[in-house]
Amino acid sequence: SGRWAAAMAILKDFEEKCATPIGKLKQVADAMNVEMHAGLASEGGSKLKMLITYVDNLPTGNEKGLFYALDLGGTNFRVLRVQLGGEDAGIINQEFAELSIPPDRMVGTSDGLFDYIAAELAKFVAKEGQDFQLPPGRQRELGFTFSFPVLQSSIDSGTLIRWTKGFSIDDAVGQDVVAELTRAMEKQGLDMRVSALVNDTVGTLAGGRYSNKDVVAAVILGTGTNAAYVERAHTIPKWHGLLPKSGEMVINMEWGNFRSSHLPLTDYDNSLDAESLNPGDQIFEKIISGMYLGEIVRRVLCRLAEEAFLFGDTVPPKLKAPFILRTPHMSAMHHDTSADLKVVGDKLKDILEISNSSLKVRKVVVQLCNIVATRGARLSAAGILGILKKMGRDTFKDGEKQRTVIALDGGLYEHYAEYSKCMENTLAELLGEKVSESIIIEHSNDGSGIGAALLAASHSQYL
Ligand code: ADP
Ligand code: MG
Repeated sequence: SGRWAAAMAILKDFEEKCATPIGKLKQVADAMNVEMHAGLASEGGSKLKMLITYVDNLPTGNEKGLFYALDLGGTNFRVLRVQLGGEDAGIINQEFAELSIPPDRMVGTSDGLFDYIAAELAKFVAKEGQDFQLPPGRQRELGFTFSFPVLQSSIDSGTLIRWTKGFSIDDAVGQDVVAELTRAMEKQGLDMRVSALVNDTVGTLAGGRYSNKDVVAAVILGTGTNAAYVERAHTIPKWHGLLPKSGEMVINMEWGNFRSSHLPLTDYDNSLDAESLNPGDQIFEKIISGMYLGEIVRRVLCRLAEEAFLFGDTVPPKLKAPFILRTPHMSAMHHDTSADLKVVGDKLKDILEISNSSLKVRKVVVQLCNIVATRGARLSAAGILGILKKMGRDTFKDGEKQRTVIALDGGLYEHYAEYSKCMENTLAELLGEKVSESIIIEHSNDGSGIGAALLAASHSQYL
């Protein structure tokens, strides 16, 4: 019928606009590389902030003692304590708790957010048992993983540049987030010092390095997306401090804010961006990360319902609710292997109140999930290629066989198998068979929390 043809036309048009042929991905990687140079040249030189992290040494294995970490950066936050053995003894003991952040705390006041976090942290510290040991007279120390763009002035201070990922707390912007947390901890009567302020990418890089010496970069694919890598300090023009002894500096790219004319953006992406809390910002993040993929699918489904009556004569009301279709739902539908696409049918019914969907319609939904996930996954691979280029590890230097390990973490990478598989395959395709043998992607399970604790240890006041 005419309706079906109209639906197919909308779908085909979307698929074409989302296309990411290898040539385009290479352009994206080159653009990423160019922006990395620009961001390192001067503060504000690029949409890529290329933030200096003040981490010039990654964990060695000698870190020792009891340390805490607090990981704030998405819908959940985690608190963690680890007892580090030192001298390659590794992690002797660890405990963590995961809590969700009440939505009203994400858009209220700085005090509202930090008081809540400090209170939860205090409860967690109060439950510290005998199997964790703090030498007498010592203050507890914390690595604070704060996964938003922060302009750091030292390893343990930094001001919030802006919020991302659905957070919007005006009075916190421009504030030192360590001072905010410290004040909130004091109000709780919690005697604890923030020894290291790190981004989750930096935490993941540190955690990854602790377990594998060849880790040189980290990428997060979760609610948002970001990357960090080890840069040669003398190649950072905007760094005016002394060159660190190690000669290295970890850079937090804030790659979520990358944008380029080579990115395949559609009308759906443009309207999602325009209606977001941060229009014009985080364009790369808005097409590849977990917060947005399901929402893109919903927007296309909405168009299919409005203009091609995909779900009958009326537009299902639920379909009009922004962010109702989450990426975990999308991934469940995408992975549905049943002959009648039962999972797709159930999700349509449970989430969107669309009952009795036909197999034909369910197949369209799966196709749509595939288009959106494939674009995101392939672009994230292109971003990684950009980093490898910057590090000079995208080709073999005469005969040298250097292993390069990239630590990956985040709920999207961890749980959306079609996405991660596609990302890894695309990276291999971009690098070619020979080089791709030496580039290894390693899942760093909650490395960011451990990494922050490790960095707190190596920046302890007692060293
Ligand atoms: P955060 O990025 O908030 O620190 P996570 O790394 O745990 O936290 O990532 C959570 C995100 O991962 C969710 O917002 C969601 O987008 C994505 N995610 C979680 N589970 C799944 C899943 N089963 N399939 C696809 N994406 C998922
Ligand atoms: Mg996280």
